[in-house]
Amino acid sequence: MFSFIRLILVLFLASIAMPNASAVYMAKRSQDWAYVPICDGFDFPVGKPNGDGYYRSRGLRLKSPRHLGEDWNGNAGGDSDLGDPIYSIGHGVVTYAADARGAWGGVVIVRHAFRDPKSGKVLCCQSLYGHLKDIDVILGQLVLRGTKVGTMGNNRGMYPAHLHAELHFNVDVNCGQQGIAKTAQNYGDLTSFIKRFRRLPLERKMARVPIGSFLPYKGTDGL
Ligand SMILES: [Zn+2]
Repeated sequence: MFSFIRLILVLFLASIAMPNASAVYMAKRSQDWAYVPICDGFDFPVGKPNGDGYYRSRGLRLKSPRHLGEDWNGNAGGDSDLGDPIYSIGHGVVTYAADARGAWGGVVIVRHAFRDPKSGKVLCCQSLYGHLKDIDVILGQLVLRGTKVGTMGNNRGMYPAHLHAELHFNVDVNCGQQGIAKTAQNYGDLTSFIKRFRRLPLERKMARVPIGSFLPYKGTDGL
């Protein structure tokens, strides 16, 4: 029996025993699903947990000129935020962790399960963290809200350092975005989402999220 309590206990004890070591816990999974703790809310991906010290320099825009996520910068500007920690917005499983090169640089995608307070249903979504300098998680790893997934980068000097973060309601969205409609059904406004679901009841339960739907992107593959 894979219990939520045991998972949290193990993660908690490990953080006390090895504060400077990054212990890695893999999600239990099959070909089609992975077990994740149901989210107890969502935090900002920078300036843990409230986004303090950072600002959103660019938001979601589904129409041309498109921007399928939002950009976050440190208040001090330029590359002062290069190497700053980037955190998972909620509990989940890492479904992509690779240098996607091109306009992307390092990319991490985390898939989440959360209970929609309105419908009472457990829904699935994913968060994407792009232009990362370092990637600190591996494919299939379980992360919690606030787990460091990488560091802020500038994609080999292509941009001033910033985080490009996306929210996907369609978990088939990969870096390639092959065949995915650029609609509000598939892409969400990350900041609105975080504010709306900032705190959710602690359920102490695991839920299955689907995996195995990503198309390979430029030789990099996800779960
Ligand atoms: Zn961007």
